[in-house]
Amino acid sequence: MVEVFEVLPGIFRIRYEYRDSIGYSSVYLVVRDKEAALIDAGTLLDSGKDVFKVLKRVGGTDVRIRYIVVTHPHPDHIGTLAWIKRKSRAEVFCYEGVGEVLKSPVRIFKENFSLGFASRLKLRATEPIFNDQEISGVDVDHELKNFESIEVGDYKFRTYHTGGHCRGHMALYERSLELLLSGDEVLCHPSSPFKFFMDKTGNSKMRERALKVFMELKPKCLLSLHDEPRMGMEAQIAIEQALEAHKIWKSTILDVVSEIGEGSAKDVYEHVKIRIEGLWTGALEFLGVLTTSVFLSELEEDGKVIRKENGKRAIWGIS
Ligand SMILES: [Zn+2]
Repeated sequence: MVEVFEVLPGIFRIRYEYRDSIGYSSVYLVVRDKEAALIDAGTLLDSGKDVFKVLKRVGGTDVRIRYIVVTHPHPDHIGTLAWIKRKSRAEVFCYEGVGEVLKSPVRIFKENFSLGFASRLKLRATEPIFNDQEISGVDVDHELKNFESIEVGDYKFRTYHTGGHCRGHMALYERSLELLLSGDEVLCHPSSPFKFFMDKTGNSKMRERALKVFMELKPKCLLSLHDEPRMGMEAQIAIEQALEAHKIWKSTILDVVSEIGEGSAKDVYEHVKIRIEGLWTGALEFLGVLTTSVFLSELEEDGKVIRKENGKRAIWGIS
């Protein structure tokens, strides 16, 4: 069942069913006069038809979707993309360099998530929203640059490249509304600010920088894809908490490596998981391991840990 809320004038949140794994799945419709834009495109299990139903209800019969903006190319946000693009003939926008990935999204499972054949097969069965066989690609119409604007009626969304959660991740900011659409960079799951992740192409320094930029923007409304909207002071508190959680995860990793001497990212994550409550488990535990790897790479850059190869697997130790 979908729920629809008008968060701000003309900004509609379509919230799909809650799942323990990813929390909510959401998309945003911006409707101004006879123009609309769709921000992200839900999971494979969400219905693209709902988007058109909502559009008709809130905008009438002659409103059309001009743009579909993809904040980042993860499977849980592009599940209905190809279908909606075909139906609406909207132009698809993404950040610079992401177009190639959206053409053939199956590559994400290997390149971003580091999943081999057996893991992908298992994931298909346990989490059907991450079925690598089902996600269709699209041709992107325009790759956005940093700080480029997208106009929808009187609203002007400015892109902020963040690149923390994954390569080419961007957020959108609308100044007159003081609205930040943060994609998956803040509030990645409703259960805890610790439940965020960075995939193999992500970057922990860039995430930290992005969260600091968001704090300076002081949005009065923070919209994310997996959690509820945060309004007023709540928006700033959520960003502060995300930054705090980010720093705690990183420092816990360093503590663990110092204590155990050496181990793989998976070994390190096993220990981190005991110290920080509410991290990734079950079918999506690999996201926790990936995030740990990204942090370890940053710690290596800073000269705090060293990477030793042990066959194919990286082993991390204290420097
Ligand atoms: Zn997501």
